[in-house]
Amino acid sequence: PSALPLLGTALSMVRSEQTHGQYLANRQRWSKPITISETELTFLGATASGVIQQKTGGHYPAPLAALELMLEASMLDLDAALELEAERFAPLFGSPVNRALLNVFFLTDRAKKTEVGRKPAPLSRIGVVGAGTMGRGIAAATARRGVGVTLCDSRADALADGVSAVVTEAAYDRELKGPSADRAADLAALVDASIEPAALGAADLVVEAIFEDAAAKRDLFAKIEPHAGDETILCSNTSTIPISTLAEGLARPDRFCGLHFFNPVRKMPLVEVIRGSQTSDETIARATAFARQIGKTPVVVADGPGFLVNRLLMPYLGEATRLVEEGVPIRDIEKAAKRFGMPMGPITLQDVVGLDVCLHAGRVMRQAFPDRVLESPLIAALVDAGRLGQKSGKGFFDYPPAKPGKPPKGADSAEVVRIRNAACGGQSDTRAERVGSITDRLLLPMLVEATRAIEDGIVRDARELDLAMILGVGFPPFRGGLLFWADTVGAAAIAEKLRPLEALGPRYEVTGLLAEAAKANASFYSLLNSSR
Ligand code: NAD
Repeated sequence: PSALPLLGTALSMVRSEQTHGQYLANRQRWSKPITISETELTFLGATASGVIQQKTGGHYPAPLAALELMLEASMLDLDAALELEAERFAPLFGSPVNRALLNVFFLTDRAKKTEVGRKPAPLSRIGVVGAGTMGRGIAAATARRGVGVTLCDSRADALADGVSAVVTEAAYDRELKGPSADRAADLAALVDASIEPAALGAADLVVEAIFEDAAAKRDLFAKIEPHAGDETILCSNTSTIPISTLAEGLARPDRFCGLHFFNPVRKMPLVEVIRGSQTSDETIARATAFARQIGKTPVVVADGPGFLVNRLLMPYLGEATRLVEEGVPIRDIEKAAKRFGMPMGPITLQDVVGLDVCLHAGRVMRQAFPDRVLESPLIAALVDAGRLGQKSGKGFFDYPPAKPGKPPKGADSAEVVRIRNAACGGQSDTRAERVGSITDRLLLPMLVEATRAIEDGIVRDARELDLAMILGVGFPPFRGGLLFWADTVGAAAIAEKLRPLEALGPRYEVTGLLAEAAKANASFYSLLNSSR
């Protein structure tokens, strides 16, 4: 029945066009060159290409080609313009960027499809425990999709602030650039709050996002489980604690998994669904369906330190810090990463995450992989000096107060050089002595760790790994993904690049998988391809 008004409206539009014949006049007008002066065109070209350059960092050739074409073709009649279009667009097909972006299209498309025969029912209410940064983000993303949320926190003040933050965020309207009052009123009815875990009894799924402490989390699950329904799934948003450890003590560990969102939840599309040693297939199917229900892209990964995304991000961030310790100017490191296409430099990213958080995560990863996760005297010294990153106004960079609504901009800090010299000795990097380019130094440890994560069975195949890295850390889509990029370089060439760096330690080791790909002259995409 909803199609009827649409059809009626369409028919009346067609009839009205037929009576006055405006469409014929439009057709005529549109097939002719546009009347626009050279000055206007030049101005248009300069401003539009400026915007494109700013948005694409010069990495995407198609938008610029489209702009140039529009400017030139505006002076031509339809046939000549169409011919020019074909001429200008043909070379874009089959280019490396085109191939990479097509790959990303297929990766995302594949992630949207559920496995055959498994379509769990949509959830109607979830529980979120911990009304902090992550809990609020998860609750808002859920309410925004019309799913009820019961927010729970042990602190009444955190709960009160949390509920209003959740409603405000969920009611955000892009056009208003702020919350819509109507939507906020509707959404308020979807969001409940309580300091009692017993209130979570009505939830189909509960996500825990309290602070990062295994004992506190286990204690909380022990309190929630007796109130949970038979079908209720319990999940943790932990970034570092093994899921199987948190499942200890649960009566139904098969109904428990990790559901790892990324910060800020509103912007980050990825959710890692972590399978603990006792998690059932049914639980994984329902947790991934929930992530899709709220518009996120789930990637199922196995339990293990840092799961997938943080495990691969850490060597990259760690190596960036090591380069600073070796005396490489921060500016050069940031520039190399951005030139490669990363959305922000690895040093800025650590300031955003928080250097105290990086220190803690680094220690957890180092415990798991002592042979290749470096201890950073510099990060420890910065934290000791109260430089915790953007949140404290100072980290690797200084952050003078920004205008309201603008993100803080980092400025070089003389103090950091002093702290570095005290913590790591006053080495200064000379390009001649450094082995490998900065880009190789940053990217190769991430790639080597990716091959190890695959060897450890953390992720199903090359494509899932690439999708997770694009959506979880903004690995440049025009590179097609981490392993897709490695395939364009070639495993043998990568192994060649690694050899002189191997002296730096196992983080630059040619792993079994890399050696196998190099020897067989095979791509990771063909070697690591699960059939779906
Ligand atoms: P946060 O400190 O902002 O919020 C934690 C909230 O939990 C607080 O409001 C606190 O009052 C509440 N709380 C603590 N103990 C509780 C209990 N027993 N019962 C109910 N509420 C309790 O923390 P966050 O940054 O949102 O992180 C939460 C979790 O998400 C952590 O496990 C963290 O590792 C993980 N995580 C964080 C990020 C991030 O970037 N912040 C990203 C991914 C995952």
